[in-house]
Amino acid sequence: MVREIEDSGMVVLREAFDTILQHAESESPCECCGLLLGRNGKIESAFPARNDSQDPSRYRVNPEDHFSAIHSARALDSQVVGVYHSHPNSKAAPSATDIAEANYPDYLYVIVSLRSDSFTDGEAGIMGGFWIRDGSVTSVDLRIE
Ligand SMILES: [Zn+2]
Repeated sequence: MVREIEDSGMVVLREAFDTILQHAESESPCECCGLLLGRNGKIESAFPARNDSQDPSRYRVNPEDHFSAIHSARALDSQVVGVYHSHPNSKAAPSATDIAEANYPDYLYVIVSLRSDSFTDGEAGIMGGFWIRDGSVTSVDLRIE
């Protein structure tokens, strides 16, 4: 099941993409973070969370917000399938810290970059999706629909 989704990539609904990008812009130059809700290989909505990290270039999802996201996913007959955060000044790829602190092997990690050169690559340059398991990173093809 998981294998199939990895091979075919993931779909991100336009509304979820817009929510993530707006959240990233409103928190910049600090990083933003939140949860991704969806099912069957599709990210249907984004749930902005508070960033508990004191360091502007790191993120820590507020645990209460994480719980709220799980709760609202259940109410929608959906699931929390991933976590997102922003990179105001770097590319949409996991940092060494992101890899070291990735605690959810079943979560899709989505990173959105606000670096101006990321926009020249279109949406694919702005947003990246990754599985991060035991310190190894696998890129996931994201399609915005
Ligand atoms: Zn990061």
